[in-house]
Amino acid sequence: MPNRKTLIDTLEIQGTLSREEFICLLNGYSKEDAEYLSRKARNTAFQYFDNKVYTRGLIEFTNYCKNDCYYCGIRRSNTNVNRYRLTKDEILSCCKQGYRLGFRTFVLQGGEDLRYSDEELAGIIFAMKEGYPDCAVTLSIGERSYESYLAYHRAGADRYLLRHETANEGHYGKLHPESLSLQARKQCLRDLKTIGYQVGTGFMVGSPYQTLEHIAEDLLFIKDLSPEMIGIGPYLPHHDTPFADKPQGSFELTLFLISILRLMIPNALIPATTALGTIHPMGREQGILSGANVVMPNLSPVSVRKKYELYDNKICTGDEAAECRVCLQNRMKKIGYEIIAARGDFQPLDMNITAGAY
Ligand code: SAM
Repeated sequence: MPNRKTLIDTLEIQGTLSREEFICLLNGYSKEDAEYLSRKARNTAFQYFDNKVYTRGLIEFTNYCKNDCYYCGIRRSNTNVNRYRLTKDEILSCCKQGYRLGFRTFVLQGGEDLRYSDEELAGIIFAMKEGYPDCAVTLSIGERSYESYLAYHRAGADRYLLRHETANEGHYGKLHPESLSLQARKQCLRDLKTIGYQVGTGFMVGSPYQTLEHIAEDLLFIKDLSPEMIGIGPYLPHHDTPFADKPQGSFELTLFLISILRLMIPNALIPATTALGTIHPMGREQGILSGANVVMPNLSPVSVRKKYELYDNKICTGDEAAECRVCLQNRMKKIGYEIIAARGDFQPLDMNITAGAY
């Protein structure tokens, strides 16, 4: 097996590695290997996006969920959660504030809450697009039927985030109850692609029972799906879940994987996630310096922020949207990056790329 620097060079040229090569790269890499990879990923991101960081305004509109994922703080069985739903007007007022702050993408995220009918959701999406026609609407509301996805798309939704969580059947079964299956999750991702959404997928780094073999499978699954957006973050325990005692994921490995993903899909939109900012005080900065190019500050009303607790100690739950925005702007500035007010759509590769062309 070639040394890790050679594997990183190959990854940069070919955009992928074999399963065995990925496992070898992930297994016991040194600090120098990580720096070598990170530098390449940062340069690649710079080539496509210059020093620009896209921003998405996250609206966590419901913490009701019909699912019972073993890792998630808002799982159905957690009776200690103070449940809430935002009304259409409340969502639109988040958008109003967000637009003023320079957001041009709004992400509607929530548990799988069937109380909102398809018609209602389509109405909310339509109103968001009508009020802010120059903005993108991203959904992150879990598994739905093809028809539902189509209805949201027709109402104006542009993008959809649905992490596959793990590409290994056995591992999927250890993270979820029997009612959920990897097959169904993958079908949703295929449906979303067919309909024409810009699609995001991803996984938690260090989720319970995860092995390096699983991560290699995740990477190959992502390469095959070729998503426009890739969201990864460390697994963080929540005290009211069956996985409360499981250790958190590794910060360094998450950064390493962000860099790998940047070399795999150079033009992808990759966020430095809130979980990354939670596990380390400089997590989002380090994420950007490892090849990420998106941040997702919270636009939800402060009154509900703490209630959307997927894991313990989630950051920014007490800050107003404007504070979050300014804070992130300053953080990015300090590392030489600039948050820009643009939709930040995925741009296909087949154009004449010059530095900062995107
Ligand atoms: N319900 C939608 C879905 O299933 O895609 C969207 C909301 S879900 C809470 C968003 C993501 O949060 C999940 O895809 C999962 O990867 C992440 N998440 C949940 N619990 C987590 C935890 N304990 N640590 C880190 N990330 C977590």
